Parts: sequence; C-alpha cells; structure tokens
Amino acid sequence: MIDQKGILFILSGPSGVGKGTVRKALFEQSTDLRYSISMTTRDPREGEVDGVDYFFKSRDEFEKLISEGQLIEHAEYVGNYYGTPRQYVEQTLNEGKDVFLEIEVQGALKVRENFPEGVFIFLIPPSLEELKDRIVNRGTETEEKVKNRLKAAKEEIDMMDAYDYVVVNDQIDNAVSKVKAIVASEHCKRERV
Ligand code: 5GP
Repeated sequence: MIDQKGILFILSGPSGVGKGTVRKALFEQSTDLRYSISMTTRDPREGEVDGVDYFFKSRDEFEKLISEGQLIEHAEYVGNYYGTPRQYVEQTLNEGKDVFLEIEVQGALKVRENFPEGVFIFLIPPSLEELKDRIVNRGTETEEKVKNRLKAAKEEIDMMDAYDYVVVNDQIDNAVSKVKAIVASEHCKRERV
C-alpha cells in the first residue's frame, strides 16, 4: 500500500432521522474511523459532556472561531451554530486516518465544496411520518421546535441527490452495516500496490 491521506466520510440527513444513533453504534463496532467532535452554541442536553458529545461554545466564542477560519464549515440550525473544527480534520486526514463527520445538510454541502473527494452519505427515514414520531418521542423539544425541525427536515430531504450514497434507516443494525460496507468499498476503490 502506498502512503495516502485518510478518507473523509460525511454522514448527513434530516434531524431526527437517527444520525447520532447510527454514528454511535458504528463507533462501538469500528475503531478505524476518527469521529470529529463538533462545536455548537446550543445548550448541553442532559447527560451530554463537553469535549465528548460537542465542544459547547458561547456565540461570541463561536463567531471568533468563524472569523479566524478555524471551522471547515458551519451552519446555523434552528437558532444555534454548529461547526466542524478545521485543525482536527486536516491533521487526522494527513496522518492517513479516516475522519467521520455527522452533520446537517447545509454544512455537508459546504464540505462538498472544500472536500469534493469526501464520501457523502445521506441517511433517510423510511417515511416522513416516522421521522415526526422520532422527533416527538425524543421528548427534548418543545412543540414549536418540533415543528421547526420537521420543516427543516422536509427541505433537507430535497437535497438527497447531491450525495454519493443513500442509506434508509429502517433499523439501526441495517443502517450501520450499510455504512460499514460503504467505508470498505471506498477503501477498495483507492487500494493500490
Ligand atoms: P443536535 O442539536 O440534535 O445535536 O444537532 C442538530 C443537527 O446539527 C443535527 O442534524 C446534527 O447532525 C447537526 N450537527 C452536529 N454537528 C454539526 C456540525 O459540526 N456542523 C453542522 N453543519 N451540523 C452539525
């Protein structure tokens, strides 16, 4: 195998589709991927830990990171900023390790501009009804926020064609297997002696 950079994988899709759950299950099974922990201005949910789930930042701190060019993408989503740290991603790829992002759709489209060689995976719900149930059942959102998230989700699903792969999240195990198959397939594509 010749020396080469790692592969950037981007898992995206509407909020509530189960990206976080699929990503966590994937990382329980796969040690070869490096997860890029995002920055956000939203408040931590119960049980979330700074530096593990997110790096929690104030708006001022976040805007400073943007102006210093320290994020490869950022998006404002339902009133909060979310962004991907540049240094971690670039350094890890340069070390030849794969990096895995789990981000919303606007951000993923921005990553596509800067990292066209990235592998873009779109996770979709079996149906919109199911997505609504998942957002409501999560129980962490007010009715207003549920409405906003569902509206955003419908707009996001329209972006599906911009992705390399589409994975239906009918069951977590199926979705994880498919993502693992995509990772393996992308390595085979690049395998050279
Ligand atoms: P939540 O508030 O539910 O943790 O995340 C809301 C949305 O933001 C989810 O769709 C999640 O994937 C996305 N997200 C998490 N980190 C990032 C990031 O660094 N950049 C962007 N653009 N979206 C992110």
